Amino acid sequence: MARSKSDISNGALRIFLQEVGKFYDTKRGFEPFGPKKKQKQVLLEYFKYQCCFCGSDITEKSLSQDHLIPMNKTALGLHAWVNIVPCCQTCNNEKQQKDWQEFLKFKSSNSEFKARTQRITSFVKKMGYDPNLDLHKYVDNLYQDVGEVTMTLINLRLKQAEDAINTLLKSG
Ligand SMILES: [Zn+2]
Repeated sequence: MARSKSDISNGALRIFLQEVGKFYDTKRGFEPFGPKKKQKQVLLEYFKYQCCFCGSDITEKSLSQDHLIPMNKTALGLHAWVNIVPCCQTCNNEKQQKDWQEFLKFKSSNSEFKARTQRITSFVKKMGYDPNLDLHKYVDNLYQDVGEVTMTLINLRLKQAEDAINTLLKSG
């Protein structure tokens, strides 16, 4: 039971972070991140058609996207411009919820680490994503509330279904 409840909360959290991301994009003068074809090209061109973590070549077709700051209840990254960086499929699978700098260190030599960090941070700066955007005070309540409200609704309907089964079995 607990597991399914947290799945629901996580789903709601992702929707919230997507919607906040859309708003944040619009306010910064961007078209909300899809990604659309044009947006993919901007990412690829900025990162010179290379995975931002391991440097391997990527194309529009093989492009995978990572949320630099993960979309989870601790990190609260948005689905928005700049928080989405181009990477290869392997890196996307490996990185998951890890801190991007630690992951980058793991994938790079010292000099590569410097250059790649520089590229990512200048991208963040140029496009104006503020990593200090603190959403915790809104999200912590949402996370709890969604789980509780959903379970209350499920239990209500469960009771009705049980009553219906009881009636059916009695009359049969
Ligand atoms: Zn990679």
